[in-house]
Amino acid sequence: MDVWIRESRARSLLTSAIEVYNRETDGVFLGKFVFRKIRGRRKRVLYVEDAHPFQTAERKPSQVYHGNVSAFKRVMNSLTSTDAEFIGGYHSHPFPYKGVRLSKYDVDFIKDQLKFIRRSEDFETQHKWVELLMCIKRIRYKRKQETGWEYRGDRKRARFMLRISPFIAFEIILAAFWIDFTKAKPEVFEAGVHIPKE
Ligand SMILES: [Zn+2]
Repeated sequence: MDVWIRESRARSLLTSAIEVYNRETDGVFLGKFVFRKIRGRRKRVLYVEDAHPFQTAERKPSQVYHGNVSAFKRVMNSLTSTDAEFIGGYHSHPFPYKGVRLSKYDVDFIKDQLKFIRRSEDFETQHKWVELLMCIKRIRYKRKQETGWEYRGDRKRARFMLRISPFIAFEIILAAFWIDFTKAKPEVFEAGVHIPKE
């Protein structure tokens, strides 16, 4: 199942990732299942409703730690008391990254997050997760460039070029992964990302 993100929401996710570059950003989002038209066909998608960064997370270049466990619990408890249908997460990988994929550490980390969320009655049956991954590369130009955003979606991933100043840009690939924890060994599948123009 593909993931559907409003353009303004995608922009705020990208901005939070750039803000902490070259450390990783880390957060969770609320989602619901809706129908949307994709290339002329009505399909069920996971709609990203709302995103919450972990501001207290201790962020290091190689991984994300929950530096403050009680703050993590507070965020999760407030999220799980809403009427969301699904909880997923997002984080970033600053360049150089080893391909656009989740690490084994990411999957172990998500498994723990999901375990915590499943303690809530509303989510005790959630055994799958969607992780949005932003892979970010900083580019320096020798010659002046025009500033602005450029979005290029391909069939699966979303690609952005953010020229934040005449000499600096960030190239970001936004990918989505389903992780199925119903089996003994978690299975990871890449999903399509749709960011319609607003
Ligand atoms: Zn990661």
